[in-house]
Amino acid sequence: MRSDEYDRLYLSPPHLGRHELNYLHKAIEDNWVAPVGPNIDGFERDICQYTGAQHCVALNSGTAAIHLGLQLLGVGPGDEVLVPSFTFVATANPVRYLGAEPVFIDSETDTWNICPGLLREALTERSRRGRLPKAIVLVHLYGMPARLPELLAIAAEFGVPVLEDAAEALGSTFQKQPLGTFGAVGIFSFNGNKIITTSGGGALVTNKSEWAQQARWLATQARDAAPHYQHSAVGYNYRLSNLLAGIGRGQMGLIEDRVKRRREIYAQYCELLKPLPAVQVGPAELPNARANRWLTTILLRPEHTNLSPEEVRQHLETHNIEARPLWKPLHLQPLFAGCATYGGSVCEDLFNRGLCLPSGSAMTDAHVRRVISALKEILPAG
Ligand SMILES: *Cc1c(COP(=O)(O)O)cnc(C)c1O
Repeated sequence: MRSDEYDRLYLSPPHLGRHELNYLHKAIEDNWVAPVGPNIDGFERDICQYTGAQHCVALNSGTAAIHLGLQLLGVGPGDEVLVPSFTFVATANPVRYLGAEPVFIDSETDTWNICPGLLREALTERSRRGRLPKAIVLVHLYGMPARLPELLAIAAEFGVPVLEDAAEALGSTFQKQPLGTFGAVGIFSFNGNKIITTSGGGALVTNKSEWAQQARWLATQARDAAPHYQHSAVGYNYRLSNLLAGIGRGQMGLIEDRVKRRREIYAQYCELLKPLPAVQVGPAELPNARANRWLTTILLRPEHTNLSPEEVRQHLETHNIEARPLWKPLHLQPLFAGCATYGGSVCEDLFNRGLCLPSGSAMTDAHVRRVISALKEILPAG
């Protein structure tokens, strides 16, 4: 057994570069150890520059960004919001924070993201009943661009605004335009496992300056303009620390390298898994789409193996390799029992057959081969 057999191979651990510490040092030296300061301003500028968004508000999580974003779109008590079922719970939780209800939409098989046909069906039915949803949340799962032209056209036809949950998709593009900038509001996450990280953090982007201002205001306890503490609305403590924004500045300088490496890892998995007919590597990109390949995902083909993804996951675990199930559809979560749902069988099938493989940008080629060797031990060769 080689010594690297003993090192745990994580799914998507943080991958820091050389400059994060410089920004942190400078913040401490200059006493900018608060949720204001030059790193926050710089980090917001970096994100605007990289994505082409006109305004960015750095926040302490992606979930906070979704919460504020939905509020900007006018979501409130009793409203409905259309949300893909196949996503992380953080996409839908903020709908409930606002007293609104999610309506879940199934995936399509090509991108695994929200299905345009079912989105149209949901909007048509809701509109016939005389009450349109307040917003549509699009998610680019695992960094894969959703079917944007169709989805945006449908949203525009019904006049329902789009919040783009690009938490997993920084660095992905459609027709060369960065994801996160297609909706009225876009959000990113810089949680520890995302493609770049601030340890914990998020951002909201928009081209509307009033909305950016409003988000900044809500994120700092909605303090009115007065010398004393004056408040006329419920606010939150959602701003990112200037220290963590320093980590973000260092990471933003590396985003293209990180995307390049994740895409290489995906390509290596595709190549090396070819001899295993039981394994289908996650979705191909649509024409004009570029995925950041945040996580490489696989589906098992039941014609070629009786093993479940859980059995494969446990086998990888014996080699100290971390793999994880795909997101469990939200319409199957006890939390959302009883929520209206359009379709559901596509994402249920993905969940029943899928697995995420280690995909961190610090992985070496030898690490990828280690995963492949472990898979070859239990899956049949073609
Ligand atoms: C990570 C993630 C979020 C939430 O981001 P946090 O920064 O962890 O709050 C939201 N949506 C999706 C799809 C995510 O993967």
